[in-house]
Amino acid sequence: MKIAQKSLCVGIVGAGPAGATLACLLAREGVDVGFFDDGKRPDMVVGESLIPRLVTVFRKLGIEDDVAALGTYKPGVTWIFDENDALELSFTAMRGVLPTYAYNVPRKPFDDLIHETALKAGARFIPCNVKLEIGQTERGEKVPRLAAETLALVPEWKGKQPDLLVDASGRRRLFAKLLGLTAKVGQRKDVSHFAHYENVMMPKPAGQTVITRLKHGWSWRIPLQHALSIGVVVDKDHARQYGSTAEEQLEAMIDQNKPLAEACPDRKRISPVTTYANYQLISDEGHGEGWVSVGDSFGFVDPMLSPGLCMAMTSAEMLADAILHNTPSGWDRAFTDYLDWFREMLKAWQELVDIFYSGQIFALQRTGNDMSRRFPGKISMIMQRHFEKNISGMAGGGLTTHPYSRNLLRFMTRYGIYGHEPSDFAVL
Ligand SMILES: Cc1cc2nc3c(=O)[nH]c(=O)nc-3n(C[C@H](O)[C@H](O)[C@H](O)COP(=O)(O)OP(=O)(O)OC[C@H]3O[C@@H](n4cnc5c(N)ncnc54)[C@H](O)[C@@H]3O)c2cc1C
Repeated sequence: MKIAQKSLCVGIVGAGPAGATLACLLAREGVDVGFFDDGKRPDMVVGESLIPRLVTVFRKLGIEDDVAALGTYKPGVTWIFDENDALELSFTAMRGVLPTYAYNVPRKPFDDLIHETALKAGARFIPCNVKLEIGQTERGEKVPRLAAETLALVPEWKGKQPDLLVDASGRRRLFAKLLGLTAKVGQRKDVSHFAHYENVMMPKPAGQTVITRLKHGWSWRIPLQHALSIGVVVDKDHARQYGSTAEEQLEAMIDQNKPLAEACPDRKRISPVTTYANYQLISDEGHGEGWVSVGDSFGFVDPMLSPGLCMAMTSAEMLADAILHNTPSGWDRAFTDYLDWFREMLKAWQELVDIFYSGQIFALQRTGNDMSRRFPGKISMIMQRHFEKNISGMAGGGLTTHPYSRNLLRFMTRYGIYGHEPSDFAVL
């Protein structure tokens, strides 16, 4: 049951998908929400390939038709792990668990849409570079506060700090940095370059996202309405072998992979190349008295299965519930539960991503194909479909932490691989 929050005031630092979703959900319930952003987002932002769990968030926000209008219908994902073999995952395997499709979206119009939705819900937007300072609670705990110059930009708050400050600043992790909080970084030290291209062959079926294993690292192809987004993810040191600039590295990595090069021999780049690095990170702490984190500012594991926006927007949903269903005196407990959920989700995503990097998933698929050939018939087919439904449900964001699905995957990767070496399919 929601508690009346009319007198509640929440300040959200960052208006990316996490911050804007939270602003919308709170403002709709009558909370006085101010969300701040410095407008420094470049036009080209990664995070264009979405997963089915997000469709349920779009429906909740009432924006699915708008997302469909600016995006591309995405029926599934194909992983090409060598020149002759691919694993094609269709979201129809998720029937009964999640919507059987997702969308690919260009980030600028997509982010603008969520922003507009938050404004329509009544949230107040404050364009500025937020300045913070360290405050102290009665118990002596260090907490973030809005600096006077930032607070002054919201005259309606009459110089009073909001009841709750939310860190939605993405990878800048403003609160954690201010308070000197630690984080665990992931094992991969990858760099990612991406750009938009035209004059290319679009993947089939239409809208399918394609992941290709490269000699080192992997690449994505994400079909958008007017372009194909091509990105590479590769170990930082290895990337240097392909050239000294991001442009040289991206183009050389495309040219040196046969399936990728054959799909776009006459490609024309129509955007600058944008680069990301060091993005695997999970914060050790995500809340304190009067503050809490949401989206990437708390953690992000890896882009391979596209969990980023799903985690950004579903964490906003979970946090909105925690705020709305409790009085401020119950927030400590509610935020602890919310962050336990967040950590468990990130752990489950990491576990899933790991079996793609280790090659286990592809060795498992080959074993399954061998079994179907040796023992054709209904039982093989039912087993295959059952496994597909669970793995798709996990990768789609609906069954990611489901104990049965996780245990099935653990069991199968441990005991279900015969005659194939996962390391032959590993992503280095
Ligand atoms: C290589 C790579 C590929 C990816 N591919 C995908 C994908 O295909 N699909 C997917 O779903 N996800 C993907 N992601 C992840 C996705 O981009 C992020 O998870 C998502 O953007 C996080 O949203 P957010 O709202 O938490 O943070 P952000 O989108 O980073 O928003 C944070 C906002 O805070 C603002 N801000 C920061 N500091 C201040 C300040 N001091 N004052 C005011 N404003 C401030 C910033 O300007 C920004 O607008 C990928 C990530 C990487 C690194």
